[in-house]
Amino acid sequence: MNHWNDYSFNTRAIRAGHTRTHEGEHSEAIFPTSSYVFKNAAEAAARFGHKEPGNIYSRFTNPTVRTFEERLASLEGGERCMATASGMAAILSTCLGVLKAGDHIVASQSIFGTIVVLFNTILAKYDIKTTFVNLNDLDSWKSAIQPNTKLLFLETPSNPLMAVADISELATLAHAHDCLLVVDNCLCTPVLQQPLSLGADIVIHSATKYLDGQGRCMGGAVIGDENIVGKDIFAILRTGGPSMSPFNAWVFLKGLETLDIRMQRHCDNADILAQWLEKQEAVAHVYHPSLSSHPQHELAQKQQSRFGGLLSFEVKGGKKAAWHVIDSTQIISITGNLGDAKSTITHPATTTHGRLTLEQRQKSGITDGLIRISVGLEDINDLQNDLLRGLALTDN
Ligand SMILES: *Cc1c(COP(=O)(O)O)cnc(C)c1O
Repeated sequence: MNHWNDYSFNTRAIRAGHTRTHEGEHSEAIFPTSSYVFKNAAEAAARFGHKEPGNIYSRFTNPTVRTFEERLASLEGGERCMATASGMAAILSTCLGVLKAGDHIVASQSIFGTIVVLFNTILAKYDIKTTFVNLNDLDSWKSAIQPNTKLLFLETPSNPLMAVADISELATLAHAHDCLLVVDNCLCTPVLQQPLSLGADIVIHSATKYLDGQGRCMGGAVIGDENIVGKDIFAILRTGGPSMSPFNAWVFLKGLETLDIRMQRHCDNADILAQWLEKQEAVAHVYHPSLSSHPQHELAQKQQSRFGGLLSFEVKGGKKAAWHVIDSTQIISITGNLGDAKSTITHPATTTHGRLTLEQRQKSGITDGLIRISVGLEDINDLQNDLLRGLALTDN
């Protein structure tokens, strides 16, 4: 795998990890097989006894899944990647792999909602407690760290408000307290941001989003050092079994081949749409790091190569006006997914963040007038016209 380091990002995105079979296929083969055949009983015994390398069973090794893992590890600049059945499986496997009862997590409060539920209800049952802090407030991270804290967990930029945290600063803090820094890099992908190079220890992906890029398959990944990912996380996958299917791995590894070109267009469209929305009379505020009005605009410029394809905006007139804009669209899909070639639109206060109390929502800026758009790859003029229908008629 290491010889791939000599090549640039896009060459690795297209070629890393692929070994052709004796058939000479050009496109990567899919290996839908649960187990592997041994030459004889002695070879079987040697593989099961860890005396020789090689495939045994697809719960823990499969050639198609390995191609995806090696390709993504190379793009994130990590030694090792383990693919998982979903993004949530990646996070669960990481926690099970590196934590034990009595340990403590400090996490940003602006993370994917299901992760909050995982930490607060499931991990809590096994005596792993979590303190949630403000993503951008280094002091609140500092003061939340306890002697038993083992993990700092965040997502940057955050969804849906696109707040940006300083990864290097948090890595320094984590390491001063013998903690691991885990960054969910789902929104940026390695095209826009490579957290390991900024000091993070583990990168998490929901491959379901931009890595697939067309909203087809569920998948996830954990990337980091051989020591952590190759041992602790591998052990959870091997024994616990939240593994990625070979078919899904194939879809994702083909997705990686066009990741850069897609991310550039997602960013182009989001930059244009953010500026355009800022000029609309019916819009009170736009949240996108490309805007100079964004509080972490400069940090995003330093830490990311571009600003990402997700944005949110608040319309004047609360929920009624927001629902009107959403319901007036004809091409943008009303769905919760993001990172798709198709643009999607959601009302966070009544969907993704509907479980929160009004007070929690207000604290985290999820107002009733807020609309989130995952900006897709369609023609930007068509997207603007699709939104204008609802924005022009919003009475406020
Ligand atoms: C979707 C998402 C997840 C969870 O991934 P699944 O593939 O849906 O399990 C985790 N983190 C972020 C930032 C996400 O957007």
